Amino acid sequence: MVWFKRDLRVQDHPPLHYAAELGEAVIPLYVIEPEYWQLPDTSRRQWLFIEESLAELNRELLKRGSRLLIWHGRITDALSALRKHFNINRVVCHQETGGQWTYKRDEATIGWCQEQGIEFREWRQFGVVRRLKNRDLWDTEWNRVIKSDQLSAPGSIHSPEGFEGFETSQPAQTTKHAPEFSHTRPCPGRQIGGRQQGEKLLASFLERRCAGYQYNISSPNTAPRACSRLSPHIAYGTLSLREIYQGAKATGQHSSSLPRKKKSLTSFRSRLHWHCHFIQKLEDEPELEFRAMHREMEKLKSGPDNSERLQRWQEGQTGWPLVDACMRALHHSGWINFRMRAMIMAVASYQLWLHWRDPGLHLARLFTDFEPGIHYPQVQMQSGLTGINALRIYNPVLQSLKLDKEGEFIRRWIPELAGLPEVWIHTPWLMTRAQQQRFGGNTYISPVCDHEQAARSARKAIGSFRQQQVSREETSRVLHTHGSRKGPVQKRPGASGNKKPPGDYQLSLFDE
Ligand SMILES: Cc1cc2nc3c(=O)[nH]c(=O)nc-3n(C[C@H](O)[C@H](O)[C@H](O)COP(=O)(O)OP(=O)(O)OC[C@H]3O[C@@H](n4cnc5c(N)ncnc54)[C@H](O)[C@@H]3O)c2cc1C
Repeated sequence: MVWFKRDLRVQDHPPLHYAAELGEAVIPLYVIEPEYWQLPDTSRRQWLFIEESLAELNRELLKRGSRLLIWHGRITDALSALRKHFNINRVVCHQETGGQWTYKRDEATIGWCQEQGIEFREWRQFGVVRRLKNRDLWDTEWNRVIKSDQLSAPGSIHSPEGFEGFETSQPAQTTKHAPEFSHTRPCPGRQIGGRQQGEKLLASFLERRCAGYQYNISSPNTAPRACSRLSPHIAYGTLSLREIYQGAKATGQHSSSLPRKKKSLTSFRSRLHWHCHFIQKLEDEPELEFRAMHREMEKLKSGPDNSERLQRWQEGQTGWPLVDACMRALHHSGWINFRMRAMIMAVASYQLWLHWRDPGLHLARLFTDFEPGIHYPQVQMQSGLTGINALRIYNPVLQSLKLDKEGEFIRRWIPELAGLPEVWIHTPWLMTRAQQQRFGGNTYISPVCDHEQAARSARKAIGSFRQQQVSREETSRVLHTHGSRKGPVQKRPGASGNKKPPGDYQLSLFDE
């Protein structure tokens, strides 16, 4: 049994490769788990991407003489039902660093297999190490996995007798019985799933688009083209991280006469390293899904709330044009670039002073590419909860002036402001009534609060909390467990390399 999870491909797939090489009959299985789709960080848009990827995976398996069996329910129920028809002696799959739910599901599955005398074997698909003993050795392990040879897709897959016509009352041959979702906000501009789409994106990125990567990934106007856009394909495994990394490396080596391209590809490859560096944090400390990385910082704010501020932020109604434009773009397309993700999360945590968890869950649901191991540590980092990174409070107006100077992005996503000239587009609340009548904009909401004043208060509150409540021991623990081993001064993922990132209030706490 090959159990597909977030690895929806046949290429460079060690469990499938291994199973096919054994020469024994193989059952490829995907389980649609209704309980999973009720979790607060899941949504229909993520499922639709998976559904498209499953259809393509099935076609690839059919070409090789097999097919994908899709089961609705629990994996252990699938295994016990299938066992009545087929002699299952081994379950193989990729290791998954997900949230608490998938971790417990995997534990239960391993336990069930042990009880039944079924061998259970997992492979790594990323450079993430389970039960890592020493963070200092992590880079070596990462390099070993990412630089090792890719595995070819099996030429043929041998099915067990009776598999072709196999049907039971539970599993569906197709995915027509979609699960029930707790979150179903439409996403008309969502990226399409499936490996072919992933391959096209990778090819266009390596051939052409990557030349602008180093320079154009921060502005929401240029980022959709300059960024690789591979994130959902990495998150659901239609492409392997290793093939992307190795493809980027080979292209970079052939681009020695094109310094922009070469530099951009080096920078891109470092993001693939961050991918695993971040996931390793959740792997090492699964509690990060529920509480702050710096445990003492969790008490900074009282628990999750459902305030009007939260709702305004969630709906793109804060009154700060760039923040609202990003949120509305995200509703529509399920993706936004790193800098804007960081800014909207930081605005929720600092200026709006919201507890990190509800905004974090809202963003998770909006991201088609939701990857728990990147998401929760990033949410906390952008909320000042790691205790080891510089505190970065974004000024939404300066970010807007810098990254959307002419207001093109704002006008696209906030039709209420479409008629405003450049001079007012970033601060519409400063217009007089007469100017509002002339240019429009009077239907756009007033800001939740004075963002500068709110940023100052947040900084003060965090500063005094830190002085009174934060121990050196806990900070050292976080640094020891999660800190990058690149050198004493941490360069934050997403930072341009400038000492003071542009567009901030430049308030800094927690510098290591
Ligand atoms: C609050 C917040 C939440 C985030 N949640 C997610 C998430 O759920 N899923 C997700 O894939 N990314 C997440 N990111 C990281 C990053 O924003 C996205 O990976 C990136 O925007 C995806 O677009 P891309 O594939 O075009 O990126 P590219 O810039 O082309 O990068 C290629 C790949 O490198 C990895 N990567 C890039 N930037 C980062 C980073 N800063 N940290 C870790 N890995 C990185 C991703 O796998 C990405 O697909 C989050 C960032 C923030 C600030």
